[in-house]
Amino acid sequence: MPSLHFDNRFLRELPGDTQAGGPPRQVAEAWSFVTPTPVSAPHVVAHSADMAARLGLTQADVASKRFAQVFSGNALAPGMQAWATNYGGHQFGVWAGQLGDGRAISLGELITDHGERWELQLKGAGKTPYSRGADGRAVLRSSIREFLCSEAMHHLGVPTTRALSVVSTGDLVVRDMLYDGHPREEPGAIVCRCSPSFTRFGHFELPGSRGDTTLLKQWVDFTIARDFPELQGEGESLYAEWFGQVCERTARMVAHWMRVGFVHGVMNTDNMSILGLTIDYGPYGWIDNFDLDWTPNTTDATHRRYRFGHQPSVAWWNLGRLAGALSSLFTDVEPLRRGLDRYTAVYTAEDRRNTAAKLGLAECLDDDVVLMGDLRVLMQEGEVDMTLFFRALSSVDPYVPSLEPFRHAFYDEGKYWQVEAGFLAWLARYTARLVDDPLSPAERIATLHAANPRYVLRNYLVQEVIDRAEQGDVSGVSELLDVMRRPYEDQPGRERFAQKRPDWARTKVGCSM
Ligand code: AMP
Ligand code: MG
Ligand code: MG
Repeated sequence: MPSLHFDNRFLRELPGDTQAGGPPRQVAEAWSFVTPTPVSAPHVVAHSADMAARLGLTQADVASKRFAQVFSGNALAPGMQAWATNYGGHQFGVWAGQLGDGRAISLGELITDHGERWELQLKGAGKTPYSRGADGRAVLRSSIREFLCSEAMHHLGVPTTRALSVVSTGDLVVRDMLYDGHPREEPGAIVCRCSPSFTRFGHFELPGSRGDTTLLKQWVDFTIARDFPELQGEGESLYAEWFGQVCERTARMVAHWMRVGFVHGVMNTDNMSILGLTIDYGPYGWIDNFDLDWTPNTTDATHRRYRFGHQPSVAWWNLGRLAGALSSLFTDVEPLRRGLDRYTAVYTAEDRRNTAAKLGLAECLDDDVVLMGDLRVLMQEGEVDMTLFFRALSSVDPYVPSLEPFRHAFYDEGKYWQVEAGFLAWLARYTARLVDDPLSPAERIATLHAANPRYVLRNYLVQEVIDRAEQGDVSGVSELLDVMRRPYEDQPGRERFAQKRPDWARTKVGCSM
């Protein structure tokens, strides 16, 4: 491996427990030094060539024995330091107290030749002072899921943390499988994820909850200086502008989720990035048949707090918890309220932009919001595949409206007949609207294709790849990643990745931690 330049500013500027080790405990600091637990036989399952190149690593570097050693936690490269951070969070609406990086270990902040800062973090590299009795490990199944989805989201244009590699450990990990309740041994693996910052809302909530205004202020000042260098000003007005930025970025992120049909599944405040990046890929899932009530998280099946259609309001609620944590830095809560209003305004504007783009229109008029709302109702009632339906809009002939281009997007023949009349009426309104729109047919198709992916990371596609990997054939991981690198392009010969979910996968595919 080449010599990499690390500037571990996080450790320099935030207070940490440099003596760390030993049993889990409450700690007042922002981080602790840790030592990754060695694994027996690290082997690279897959890597992201895009991310490797971005970090300045060649294919030969990735293929070297040293790479597997470093990115499994068996060895530190020069300049690396291993640490875990301390945070709290609201889980399923309830304050959960101190959590922290129980199985995430940062290796350093890499500075690339282009001057980019990328924190590298291993997930599943062993216990930390914040593991709270859990094993600090991750299984191959969940690691492949995180690896593939973070890269897929990036290529879909959704703000996200990235993934460099997934390395199998050669060790077994015991897991309780939720569907049958019996413990099972599974192969272990470690993902190396990459982000300019892994700071979460929960990093501010923990000192906020403890009344530790000194640490809270250190966190805020550090975050603004390192992660929001473009912000000007000082004091409360700077803090207010920063909070507004966090609200704005969060709004943009969630609007993208709704555009592509991504359901995070565990939007606890400890899983919310201060940079508005999608973070912590656990029991996430992708919408097949359009269903605002769907959640992939089997532990949330009753209340469905984190269901698809609830995500915009949950993000707002989470920002409210962040605002509460920050309130001791403000003499007046009005700026925090304005930040939350900015979330609503930006989300609404982004949603309108997405409405126009997904329908292939030059702009979103008020009537188009109604048109989209009515379409959502029809798609939900008719069990229509979201991705296939929107992609097929580019085949609509404005002068000869027909449901033919959409037939393959229906899951249920009976449901189709139920909603056919409603869809035809909708299509008549839509095509009338197209005739009024200034975009040329070519511009319309380009707009539609840029907003409506041909390929998304369907749950069953990932499950197939995982099943093969658990049998020893890991080639499917790289193949699926390669498809997901160009999600908006039609890729000849890869039609099988752009089909609706098969019947066998309807209920089987779900929660995976
Ligand atoms: P999550 O629901 O995945 O966001 O995790 C919530 C908390 O549990 C975080 O503090 C994690 O670090 C911790 N955690 C989850 N899985 C493990 C594990 N296998 N070992 C240690 N800590 C874990
Ligand atoms: Mg988490
Ligand atoms: Mg997690």
